[in-house]
Amino acid sequence: MRFLCLLVVFVFAAAQQTDKPDKLALRKQIAEMKVKAFEMQTQIELLEKELHDVEDAEANQPIVAPGAKMAVKVRCQGHTRDGKRCVRNAEAGSRFCWQHKSKR
Ligand SMILES: [Zn+2]
Repeated sequence: MRFLCLLVVFVFAAAQQTDKPDKLALRKQIAEMKVKAFEMQTQIELLEKELHDVEDAEANQPIVAPGAKMAVKVRCQGHTRDGKRCVRNAEAGSRFCWQHKSKR
């Protein structure tokens, strides 16, 4: 048994000494690198999504001057006669613009 072990070590050492690149080892290395590349790609996509979400949140956040707490622009919840969403800003403290507020 001990002899077999030594033989294995010897064969392994001999294989390492050959100039030929170990195809199996190279394939294994490539496969490992591919897995790493895939993992990194997934991570990049996750980070990009996260960045996109943060940018989206920033874009949706109304620009409020410091100290002006109530200066939030809210779009009117009313609808025009042809069923489209009203494009006016709602009045302060209301969910509707001057026009749609009067109908409520
Ligand atoms: Zn309106």
